[in-house]
Amino acid sequence: MKENSIEARLLHTPYERPDAYNALSMPVYHTAAYEFDSAEAMEAAFCGRTTDHAYSRITNPTVQYFEDRIQAITGAMSVTALNSGMAAICNTLMAIGFSGANIVTSPHLFGNTYSLMKTTLAAFGVEARFCDLTNPDEVRANVDYNTCAVFVEVITNPQLEVVDLKLLSSIAREAKVPLIADTTIVPFTVFHGKDFGIDIEIVSSTKYISGGATSVGGLILDNGTFDWSRSFILKHWYEQYGERAFTARLRKEIHRNLGAYMTPQVAYMQTLGLETMQLRFERQAFTCLELAKRLQSLHGIVSVNYTGLEDNPYYQLSTSQFGRYPGAMLTFDLPAREACFAFMNRLKLIRRATNLFDNKTLAIHPASTIYGSFTEEQRRDMDISQQTVRLSVGLEPVDDLYNDIEQALSVTS
Ligand SMILES: *Cc1c(COP(=O)(O)O)cnc(C)c1O
Repeated sequence: MKENSIEARLLHTPYERPDAYNALSMPVYHTAAYEFDSAEAMEAAFCGRTTDHAYSRITNPTVQYFEDRIQAITGAMSVTALNSGMAAICNTLMAIGFSGANIVTSPHLFGNTYSLMKTTLAAFGVEARFCDLTNPDEVRANVDYNTCAVFVEVITNPQLEVVDLKLLSSIAREAKVPLIADTTIVPFTVFHGKDFGIDIEIVSSTKYISGGATSVGGLILDNGTFDWSRSFILKHWYEQYGERAFTARLRKEIHRNLGAYMTPQVAYMQTLGLETMQLRFERQAFTCLELAKRLQSLHGIVSVNYTGLEDNPYYQLSTSQFGRYPGAMLTFDLPAREACFAFMNRLKLIRRATNLFDNKTLAIHPASTIYGSFTEEQRRDMDISQQTVRLSVGLEPVDDLYNDIEQALSVTS
């Protein structure tokens, strides 16, 4: 028999151990701790000789089922589910970073990721080297013996910049540095990070996966592709765990100590969201492309940014990496900040809210919100313009969205 489609696999990955009542859905195991038959069994679980659950900060059956389903779909070597996308990024960088290390990345980053690297990690002696990741020479010039990661967002939010991932990966590999990518903007059902040389993928499951913005969550996917033997901090783990060195330290030390594991209720909601993710994504991304095309000729809009538009500078690269529908987020520029505010205030259907890939279409003015606490100079470094409005496209018909945007623009121009 041929392998089932991704849609079918999203729906039909059974859980491992039978439930006492044959529940068709994975039950939500709301418990902090698990009981053992003997002291010996307890010792074995705590010392990692068995995989029995002991405490829900470390593992939980409902969360594990969610992780297993993501693993079945992506083929990742290991999946770890955390409390938020930021927890996933933080856990990852804490597992490979050390005082004196540096991370080579771009200033075009999600606001909290930028702040984490620029300030939070800097206080622990981890230096963020912000450079132009689309320029191979700049990347090579910044990578050195103490580089613990090259970190990239596959389509940056909200600049919508795209790097040649295979090229970036080859530079990282040459330097024996892992390539870590935040792939939140394009779901793993259409973008296979491993094929582009990404060693570790980070996903904010708050976005496409949760479905209807029910909950906040994050994922770390270890593709098992990196040789950790030369990692300053992981080489001892490598001796015992080989290619699983990163996952071993993450699961046995870092995530236990940071204590940001996903909760069972969230895992349940996001498992449901996962089942319909591909269907929602297809509809949302299709609408996004259609809307982007129509907005290009709408009076009052200065420019539209979406890498699926044929005249976008990243069109070829984006199509080769992400297909025809590179996510369900677009931005457009209006003549000035005041025009953006007036536009936002007149929206009737589209909601004024942060977040991405809710079922509802959302609008935000990034410069005054997500990037509002940065200085004007930092915003310039990050290419955050006061003229830009960001749209996350939901499940509404494209006509409804177009009409709302048109009426909201009509008085501003
Ligand atoms: C939302 C987002 C994050 C952070 O995820 P949370 O779940 O909000 O913590 C990180 N990266 C990108 C690209 C995002 O869109």
